[in-house]
Amino acid sequence: MSHSQPSWREMDLFAPTDEHRMLAATMREYVANEVEPQAAAYNRDEKFNLALFRRAGELGLLGLTVPVEEGGAGLDAVAAVAVCEALSTSDPGFALAYMAHSILFVNNFYFNSSAEQRAPILPRVISGDWIGGMCMTEPEAGTDVLGMQTTAVRDGDHYVLNGRKIFITNGAIDDTTLGDVFLVYATTGERKITTFVVEKGFPGFSVGQRLKEKLGMRASMTAELVFDDCRVPVPYRLGEEGQSSIHMMRNLEIERLTLAAMSLGIAERCMRVMVEYANQRKAFGVPIREHGQIQRHIAESYAEYKACRCYVYETARKLDLGSSGNRVDADGTKLLTSRVAKEIADRAIQVLGGYGYMGEYTVERLWRDAKLLEIGGGTLEAHQKNITKDLSRSPELIGA
Ligand SMILES: Cc1cc2nc3c(=O)[nH]c(=O)nc-3n(C[C@H](O)[C@H](O)[C@H](O)COP(=O)(O)OP(=O)(O)OC[C@H]3O[C@@H](n4cnc5c(N)ncnc54)[C@H](O)[C@@H]3O)c2cc1C
Repeated sequence: MSHSQPSWREMDLFAPTDEHRMLAATMREYVANEVEPQAAAYNRDEKFNLALFRRAGELGLLGLTVPVEEGGAGLDAVAAVAVCEALSTSDPGFALAYMAHSILFVNNFYFNSSAEQRAPILPRVISGDWIGGMCMTEPEAGTDVLGMQTTAVRDGDHYVLNGRKIFITNGAIDDTTLGDVFLVYATTGERKITTFVVEKGFPGFSVGQRLKEKLGMRASMTAELVFDDCRVPVPYRLGEEGQSSIHMMRNLEIERLTLAAMSLGIAERCMRVMVEYANQRKAFGVPIREHGQIQRHIAESYAEYKACRCYVYETARKLDLGSSGNRVDADGTKLLTSRVAKEIADRAIQVLGGYGYMGEYTVERLWRDAKLLEIGGGTLEAHQKNITKDLSRSPELIGA
């Protein structure tokens, strides 16, 4: 290679541009000064921190992937990954609420709506005035999306929605108050799923129940939502009837990748806690880092964490938010990183012994949070099936 060629070796996979570096600096301050001080209490009390969420709006994080001309930050998948990763070093529960809003609602809505549909809604969700979410899962159908039973029947200039959605992040913001706006998937015919925007205040739309005592992610609210002859004006349908598979495909990859990024944040924090503790804690006259079995926990965790981080950011670098085509790696990153993060959190608890089991060092909370990432946004089993299907169809992906 010629010496005059700009040095590609200087490329930072995790913050490739000035914008990404500025975002990383913003996140460092926001997480240290505003997210971390509240994390333990809000998770313990199972409360959603609305003020912290609105602050994310002020920092431009809620419309991260929306173009600047439309009021967003105009950033990309690498930025979305970096924000979810940073938040999850401190408060994965809050990160989940953030992701459900900014990726499951805002990003999805932006890429699948018309300018007329965006005008009244986008500014409100980008500022944080409104909190949004996405309703796919039903009590009887999760992985089996096409098995959903919520129906939407056209009645003049409205659709009438009937059904229930379960496990909806941001479905409620406290015990009884609905979130503000949702993308809702409903069937409009045999194997025909259509996407609607449903706002708080539409007749027949309510919180069925707020789901409490989750294993982890307790700073995000999870609810069952009910559509009981819910009337949705026709202009609130996104695209044409039956187009949901396109909407889902477009958003699923960034959803899975940002969930993988949350696992990265958990892994990073657990690594830091583990290494610091192993340096300080003494057993049998030496710091426990001198013991080979502790070294194994630390070293294996580090190598696995680094490999996952490269995989996630490399996939983010290639991901085009407006289209699909990276499913194998969106699934691959989440399949691998969620298991690694859970294992690293487990090892961190082990390295800390009894102290790891207590709340003070945070790793027990992260261990509980980590489990969700093996289920939400697609189970491990769903990723295994998708990856095998994609590789069988396109074996050239293996070396790509
Ligand atoms: C905290 C939390 C937040 C969530 N937030 C949202 C949200 O905001 N919006 C939303 O729509 N959903 C949300 N979900 C739902 C989540 O995406 C689903 O729980 C997930 O997709 C799995 O669906 P399920 O729970 O119905 O399990 P099921 O699909 O019933 O699966 C049960 C088990 O069967 C396995 N299984 C199913 N099908 C197959 C198959 N073909 N082959 C092999 N194994 C199979 C699964 O892998 C799993 O192990 C959330 C869930 C949680 C827990």
